Amino acid sequence: MGEFELIRRYFATASCARAGGEVVLGIGDDCALLAVPAGEVLAISTDTLVAGVHFPEGCDPFLLGQRALAVSASDLAAMGAAPIGFTLALTLPAVEPVWLERFARGLERMASRCALRLVGGDTTRGPLTLTLTVFGRVPEGAALRRDGARPGDLVCVGGGPLGDAAGALPLVLGQRSAAPAVAKPLLDQYWQPLPQLALGQALRGRASAALDISDGLLADCGHLATASGVALFIDAPRVPRSAELVDFMGEEAAFACALAGGDDYRLAFTLPRQHLAALASDWPITVIGEVRDGAGVHLLDAQGRAMEPPRRGYTHF
Ligand code: ADP
Ligand code: MG
Repeated sequence: MGEFELIRRYFATASCARAGGEVVLGIGDDCALLAVPAGEVLAISTDTLVAGVHFPEGCDPFLLGQRALAVSASDLAAMGAAPIGFTLALTLPAVEPVWLERFARGLERMASRCALRLVGGDTTRGPLTLTLTVFGRVPEGAALRRDGARPGDLVCVGGGPLGDAAGALPLVLGQRSAAPAVAKPLLDQYWQPLPQLALGQALRGRASAALDISDGLLADCGHLATASGVALFIDAPRVPRSAELVDFMGEEAAFACALAGGDDYRLAFTLPRQHLAALASDWPITVIGEVRDGAGVHLLDAQGRAMEPPRRGYTHF
């Protein structure tokens, strides 16, 4: 199978590759053409996943296709952007039809869950590497940036417990096993997190700053604190963690995963207090702390005393 047949068979003919919406022209020409409605701006983010670094070699390609797109789409959610589409730059060691078929199905599933259209890409030979670039749109001035947090705002996270994806890592790497009732929810958070795109859009005009927790809650809150020039105080007991994670790892390690684990493709945001009641009535959010004057991220125990944080989040270098 040649390069063009591969592109046609697995990607250009996928349902998610159909033009429509803001996608004026999709796969097949030298560029895709995207229309951005008047008064809106384009939000763009790119992420690379390398085999052996970001996912184990030999992992299920269906799950990999889902995860790769979810990781990128989460950045659109974090900006409050509405999804438009994505490109896929795929580097493959060899053409394996069974692998490609499953990968494309996983990608298709997440594309449909996130309402993202595949608009183009590149296909090359080499060590397995995926680079996805996502495109979204957001009204001018309405994007959720990292630099707007103000003293007095609440610190919140969207959705349920944190740390499950980080807790799943020994399962993903085959270093440990667990009963299906424990392993499945953790592995689902790792392989098929659902980007909080709708919540991100609901936060427009309400949240003062936001980002997604990909490097771990404390590390990402640190980025937000620095960008905004404020301090974030987080009440450790309010950081949500799942019964499955505690069951699998024990209290202390579950706590470390929730605070510092990374791979939680969920939104952390700061919220002026007057917006809390309306937002919390429509969305599952958890208040975990508050913004104060100062710098950095500070962890408080149940008695409000400063406590030492567990290990910090992941950095590549
Ligand atoms: P060019 O030589 O102009 O860069 P390519 O031969 O790389 O074009 O790709 C042909 C068309 O197929 C382009 O529209 C490109 O965006 C698309 N494409 C290539 N690889 C992929 C892929 N893995 N997924 C989706 N679209 C792809
Ligand atoms: Mg090309």
